[in-house]
Amino acid sequence: MAPAALPVLFLSHGSPMHAIRPGAVRAVWRGIARDMPKPKAILIASAHWETSIPALTGATRPETIHDFYGFPQPLYEVQYPAPGDPALAARALALLQSAGLAAAVDPQRGLDHGAWSPLLHMYPEADIPVVQVAVQTELPARHHLKLGRALAPLAAESVLIIGSGHMTHNLRERRGDGPLPYAGEFQEWVRQKIEERDLDTLVDYRALNPHGARAHPTDEHFLPLFVALGAAGANYRAERLYAGIEMGSLAMDAYRFS
Ligand code: ZN
Repeated sequence: MAPAALPVLFLSHGSPMHAIRPGAVRAVWRGIARDMPKPKAILIASAHWETSIPALTGATRPETIHDFYGFPQPLYEVQYPAPGDPALAARALALLQSAGLAAAVDPQRGLDHGAWSPLLHMYPEADIPVVQVAVQTELPARHHLKLGRALAPLAAESVLIIGSGHMTHNLRERRGDGPLPYAGEFQEWVRQKIEERDLDTLVDYRALNPHGARAHPTDEHFLPLFVALGAAGANYRAERLYAGIEMGSLAMDAYRFS
């Protein structure tokens, strides 16, 4: 019997401090993992790996990359020793190529905090193989939908596909005293477009939403959402499982598509 298809996730990974500091979103991440069958492997698109063409990690033992500066020392000691899955990387590469996308496997690259910070809470035993896929900031959101669509068959093979980015990500506007109203407005607009499956509007968020460029001064943290939406297939059902806003301008939405 074929394994049941797993849901597809979009997670806002937040500050790397989520790896070591208690917070509400960690319980949400744990609950998401608890509420689904254990995946055979994880394929995660992270905002923190930017390449010119889609790239996949091919290492057998991907290292834990500490790709941030100025954080407390304990964060640099965090390790997420999940194995890689070169066979899954090869399968994903073949799917991308079949969809007409030039793609590559990087045998050296490890896992960045966009991947390991949520996975540390979802699967603390680090016993599920992980392959990371990069985003292409020189290419439009629509390209990332295509990338996700190409990878969609993996969800039916017990591979958990995750886009790890942010719902809003304006680092210059971080502050301590409550959410900025535009972040909430953008969050709700995106929710509406996701629920209406109006992806043609959503890919054009910079032009069609007055807060698009402010919510994402650069778009690398929004692109993983399109990978997830593409992988979710045309008739997904979307559930928003978390919608907190941290530091005024960082919306932390988590979505499950099934
Ligand atoms: Zn990030």
